[in-house]
Amino acid sequence: MVKRQKIVITGRVQGVGFRPTVYRIAQALSLSGFVYNDTKGVTIELQGQEEKIAQFLVRLQCDDKPPLAEIKSCNAVDIPVIRDADRFIIETSDAEGSALSQVTADITTCRDCLAEMADKDDFRYGYPFINCTNCGPRYSIVKTIPYDRPNTTMSVFKMCGKCATQYTDVTDRRFHAQPVACGACGPKIWLTDNKGKTIRTGTDNTITETAKLLGEGKTVAIKGIGGFHLAVDALNDQAVQRLRQRKRHDHKPFAMMTDLIEKIKEHAEVSVLAEKLLKSPQSPIVLLPKRENSSIAPSVASGVNTFGFMLCYAPLHYLLFEQGIDILVMTSGNISDEPLICKNEKALQRLGQVADAFLMHDREIYRQVDDSVVHFIDEQPVPLRRARGYVPTPIFMEQTCREDIFAAGADMKNTFCFAKQNQLICSEHIGDLEDAEVYHHYIDSIKHLAKLFEVQPKIVVCDLHPGYLSTRYAQSLSGVKVVQVQHHWAHIASVLVEHGLDGPVIGIAYDGTGYGTEGAIWGCECMIASLEKFERFGHLAYYPLAGADKASKEAIRPTLALLKKTYGDDFKLSEFTWLLERIEPDTSKQQVILEQIEKGVNTVETSSLGRVFDAVAAILGLGSYNHFDAQLPMALEAIAISNIEEYYDFELIRTDNKPLQLDLGKMIRQLIADIKKGQAAEVISAKFHNTIAIALPAMAKQARESTNLDTVALSGGVFCNRYLTNCLIKLLRKNGFRVLFNREIPANDGGISVGQAAIAAYIVSRET
Ligand SMILES: [Zn+2]
Ligand SMILES: [Zn+2]
Repeated sequence: MVKRQKIVITGRVQGVGFRPTVYRIAQALSLSGFVYNDTKGVTIELQGQEEKIAQFLVRLQCDDKPPLAEIKSCNAVDIPVIRDADRFIIETSDAEGSALSQVTADITTCRDCLAEMADKDDFRYGYPFINCTNCGPRYSIVKTIPYDRPNTTMSVFKMCGKCATQYTDVTDRRFHAQPVACGACGPKIWLTDNKGKTIRTGTDNTITETAKLLGEGKTVAIKGIGGFHLAVDALNDQAVQRLRQRKRHDHKPFAMMTDLIEKIKEHAEVSVLAEKLLKSPQSPIVLLPKRENSSIAPSVASGVNTFGFMLCYAPLHYLLFEQGIDILVMTSGNISDEPLICKNEKALQRLGQVADAFLMHDREIYRQVDDSVVHFIDEQPVPLRRARGYVPTPIFMEQTCREDIFAAGADMKNTFCFAKQNQLICSEHIGDLEDAEVYHHYIDSIKHLAKLFEVQPKIVVCDLHPGYLSTRYAQSLSGVKVVQVQHHWAHIASVLVEHGLDGPVIGIAYDGTGYGTEGAIWGCECMIASLEKFERFGHLAYYPLAGADKASKEAIRPTLALLKKTYGDDFKLSEFTWLLERIEPDTSKQQVILEQIEKGVNTVETSSLGRVFDAVAAILGLGSYNHFDAQLPMALEAIAISNIEEYYDFELIRTDNKPLQLDLGKMIRQLIADIKKGQAAEVISAKFHNTIAIALPAMAKQARESTNLDTVALSGGVFCNRYLTNCLIKLLRKNGFRVLFNREIPANDGGISVGQAAIAAYIVSRET
């Protein structure tokens, strides 16, 4: 029987080769009708034999589904049959013009392309830029919309006849794949020395020489998809140490790349989920527990208990590893905290002192995009840095806003975010705005993405912190309404919007520092929060932190603050010499800081939990300085033993109508006593983590009693700590709470912009 059906499909179905697939299946099954994109997804009308339509639906959703598509819903309804329907067409529509439906993330080389690259008879055999509709660069090469070849950095390469035939054939895997190219017509690679002098040309020569240099322990800057990497043999400790020194004593753990999952398994524990993530089209860096006896150079990732591994994600990477390379450090091509470098000339200029050679190519990278970093919380993948492979995939909101919104984000680990209609478009990781180059990159990126996504914000959201560069930037914009949102509220809102909720919930935001509503620096907050408003329910009892910005780097500052807070007038430096000398040997400096605290000079009241982690790590002798964000807390987490159930005492104090206060004085006393007794640091660290994990449900239970809410939303940088967060989630569930945490965006300040945008979108959607 002949039928006609209207089929509406939602999910990630645009910009992933969905309509050509629909066309191909419809042709194969002799069905007539049409397909088009709209704001919700893809709409299809199909006419033909009933069983053929049924087959179509099965093939589209299972067997023939484009690899990058994710179908959220598929609704089919019968509609009247049309006479003389004899062909199937792809219709263009208004949604065609929307950049969001066209510009997708950069995707790892697919299996079909890898097979062709290895096939001696294929005309793209060994070609380092092979790609198709299902893989290759997108976001990093697009300059403007519509997403057509002339608007990408591929515009300078004229397609050869063979490539053009595939590009224009709707039945071909490369139909409208904008970066399509081959050895005859596309980009090329070459190798230069660190002055820019070409030393090898031709794919084979270049690859062989690069592999040889890496084998000799040399550092090679390799241009990839989103920017340059600095590559060095990960098993050669001397080579890795040399790279660290040349990168101006970069202390951060280095990420590594290899071609086979089996190689990763020799050095790290790879769960089934982790393997799936490593092999996913996004191909992020995945943090994996280190295995004992791993032969990875110790200086790759000291002071942490994980290795960051990724698999090859560009054809060029595969060609390199075919030369017998085992594992490479592949760290961002930049100096300290500057933006990732993506241009050839700039790479030579900035990295000439760091790299011995440069593997260049002439496909221009228009937008630099860092590698994404993902770890596991509650056995679910959660990003720590959201960039390549994930950006610009939007987050869908329940609300639709009538006005476009720009959210400026936070100053550390910055991302910014646009809200347009029912979508949140969060930028890739931008970095710490205090670096002048990063700040300029931030401004340029805002302008570029606003143009690309055709956003004209009338409402601008920023943090409450008057000193944030992002706040000042937002306030400098003219003709817009500026809304300021408290930092920790934004953290909680980011969880709400991801889960499609408005709240209220019990929001728990634990992080380094954020500006509070009364001028204090907050950082361990329990709030009753919705997208509409929040009320502070409880927090860590304030302690006096001296030295502004230095306080987040030098652990002596929170250490003295907490000791002073705990022991009050009884606190004497001389009685703690044994403890303090390993944190700050200069006793006069100790004295100065203590006086600052006592007199309240250059001192702020804070409830920062991050700084408590710094202090405890320093007290346990794990270091005294954060060379990078959360270095000390990560070292503290790394040593905690997992089978300890003990914890320290703490108090929840309520006075008058003030918020509940979490007082850790007893914990500090007991912890110091443990050290004096000679208790192992590994045990003390576990007891400390347990204390924080137990204090939180205690606070949440009081919040439940007074509000009847039983959903807890967790966010903030401290929840990047796996030991604490996993422990906490279990405890909260045991106490009958429903627990929500960030899944799509980072729990650290990289998620702030999404929370800000969600709050503004909610407010705007309710205004008439
Ligand atoms: Zn492909
Ligand atoms: Zn070609």
